[in-house]
Amino acid sequence: MSNIHSYRSFPAAQQPPWPDPEALRGVVAELESRPPLVFAGECDLLRSRLAAVARGEAFLLQGGDCAETFDKVGVEQIRSKLKTLLQMAAVLTYAASVPVVKVGRIAGQYSKPRSRDTETRNGVELPVYRGDSVNGTEFTPESRTPDPERLKRMYHASAATLNLVRAFTTGGYADLRQVHAWNQDFVAMSPSGKRYEQLAGEIDKALAFMRACGMDAEELRTVEFYASHEALVLDYEAALTRTDSRSGELYDVSGHMVWIGERTRRLDGAHVEFASKIRNPIGVKLGPATTADDALALIEKLDPGREPGRLTFITRMGAARVRDRLPGLVEKVTASGARVVWQCDPMHGNTFSSESGYKTRTFDDVLDEVKGFFEVHHGLGTHPGGIHVELTGDDVTECVGGGDEILDADLKDRYETACDPRLNRSQALDLAFLVAETYRD
Ligand code: PEP
Ligand code: MN
Repeated sequence: MSNIHSYRSFPAAQQPPWPDPEALRGVVAELESRPPLVFAGECDLLRSRLAAVARGEAFLLQGGDCAETFDKVGVEQIRSKLKTLLQMAAVLTYAASVPVVKVGRIAGQYSKPRSRDTETRNGVELPVYRGDSVNGTEFTPESRTPDPERLKRMYHASAATLNLVRAFTTGGYADLRQVHAWNQDFVAMSPSGKRYEQLAGEIDKALAFMRACGMDAEELRTVEFYASHEALVLDYEAALTRTDSRSGELYDVSGHMVWIGERTRRLDGAHVEFASKIRNPIGVKLGPATTADDALALIEKLDPGREPGRLTFITRMGAARVRDRLPGLVEKVTASGARVVWQCDPMHGNTFSSESGYKTRTFDDVLDEVKGFFEVHHGLGTHPGGIHVELTGDDVTECVGGGDEILDADLKDRYETACDPRLNRSQALDLAFLVAETYRD
């Protein structure tokens, strides 16, 4: 058993019940022979960018689908998601006056932790959907049976997505001037756009000033963009872990950054053990039940060297609890001398079932949790390092509220998520502009 397989001696929550272990072994062997999706040096560069966030010199914007699906690996969907993230980043960069580190929940976000093993519809009980890496959403026994061949599809879908993302972000599509023009369109077209006219106008003037000064830096034309996902199915993540030839250290080359979810962050569990062995930047979700001792123990295990940029705590307390639960954690972690990135996930603590029966989130709760997160950090003199959001570039109707005022009765129109409700393009931009405005308050 190599070092990377030490996790096998620890209890692993949320692993798919693969029906045929032999078939799984074949898939894992094949994945082990495949080229890396990302390079160790890129993971190191992201770690150094996140170190700047930890020091209070940069901001982290992370976002994308709750669950990517194979049928949405298309140029339109990937482009619109990327475009939305870039637009948000442009607004936040101006408002925060610091670099924004851009990380997608993309090119690997195919595996989902679930609260139940089975689901019953009309008296029929079947295994729950665990993400496209494991089984299908369709409610039939065939589709819901875990199939390890899907791990290969995950690898190929991730590769295709990443290839397109790399082309878009370095090939001129992400030029800041173009991104700003998209934002101007949004301000002109969205119902709440008027509110943002002033901010958009200021960015326009700043760009005009730079142009007048003859500044036409390469930095405006390309962006650094990183891929992240929840490291959930450990057979897949371990099969894509490689020893870096430069340093001899292990990197999970399935994505630049991986995170551990709220349901799998047990200190003595397999996921934390796995993450402790790899050099990638690591995120850990922290829900409202997290104690300061839990957080300190996670630091001890995942970031024993107290290396800024190594560890990101993604807090998801819920709007109603963030002001109460977050201060104790931040205070004790800061007092311990650790320099983690604090990032707010304003989605997962604010989910509820609407009257019409859809799993949804209210835009105002999302915004309120972000505001609470900023308030807590400002109160303590620590850095509100970033936000982590579930979003899509499409005009879906999955979260209620926002400038377009999506109502419960509208949810049925375009409810397309394979798992949790995402902000649509306009709600995501609303959030970026409103967060930007909090920088002036
Ligand atoms: C998620 O990010 O989709 C997720 C499941 O989050 P959490 O682990 O915070 O519940
Ligand atoms: Mn989710």
